Amino acid sequence: MEVIVGKLAGFCFGVQNAVDCAEKELDLNNNIYCLGEIVHNEQVIKNLEKKGMITVNNIDEVPDDSKVIFRAHGESQIIYEKAKQKHLEVIDLTCPKVKAIHMKVEREKDKSFIIIVGKKSHPEIIGTKGFAGENSFVIENEDEILDAYMEYEKTNLGRVYVVSQTTFSSSKFDKLSEEIQLNFCEADVIIDKTICNATENRQIETKEISKKVNKMIIIGGKHSSNTKELAKVSEENCGNVLLVQNVDDLQYKEIFNKSKIEVMTGGVQIIPDLKKELIDENYKIGIMAGASTPKQSIDEIIDFLKK
Ligand code: SF4
Repeated sequence: MEVIVGKLAGFCFGVQNAVDCAEKELDLNNNIYCLGEIVHNEQVIKNLEKKGMITVNNIDEVPDDSKVIFRAHGESQIIYEKAKQKHLEVIDLTCPKVKAIHMKVEREKDKSFIIIVGKKSHPEIIGTKGFAGENSFVIENEDEILDAYMEYEKTNLGRVYVVSQTTFSSSKFDKLSEEIQLNFCEADVIIDKTICNATENRQIETKEISKKVNKMIIIGGKHSSNTKELAKVSEENCGNVLLVQNVDDLQYKEIFNKSKIEVMTGGVQIIPDLKKELIDENYKIGIMAGASTPKQSIDEIIDFLKK
């Protein structure tokens, strides 16, 4: 069996920066609040919570005059204003690439109708929509373009500015952009593909690896949209894709012919048979991990497979 590990697997620059800065802050102070999960990864959250981070889902849960982390996804303008009213000390760990999108939509909001391509409920999109103001609309699928057009018609703007969630599927964004240009043919349409390089390159590498392997293991949080996207990209090329959070999710039945390692009385361990395909030297497993997956989770899975 051969294991191919993606070079781009694991933390992206924005997430690494957020986790490192949070750790440094927690070395100096306990009881630092974090608005939302700092990354979509249970293990990373648990480690930081042990050091004194308190995760809350709403800024109203943060006591006045305390310290609060704004994570890499970014927050909307209204949350910055609320933080000011509550005299909070903000540790702003918004990724610079997300900040750049906030600045772009703020600059455009008075002259353009802004279409944000992404998932409505995703925290990054909630933040970006907040900066884009009223003349903006979020779409995720082709059938929402008409709804966006109806909103656009209510404005007297002749310009349409399109941005994207940083972790959106690159190919899907390209298709939606073409459709937007067709549907808004009388408007001046500016397409600004704000998908992050880290995301796009990881999707490209995932595609390449998934074409070469028999099984693809994608490691990442259950709620991480960039991880789910990697699984989708893999499924296009590989019929056997597993999405796991950590080594515990990699169930024995996937690797062995039995669902559990049996332990005999007297403590003698019976090593179950490896599935035939896994001892076949031509069998290949590909590994890729989302932007919020720590190196430790990737290494544990590689070690498990090696053993
Ligand atoms: S995926 Fe890109 S934009 Fe998002 S946090 Fe990572 S580096 Fe920043």
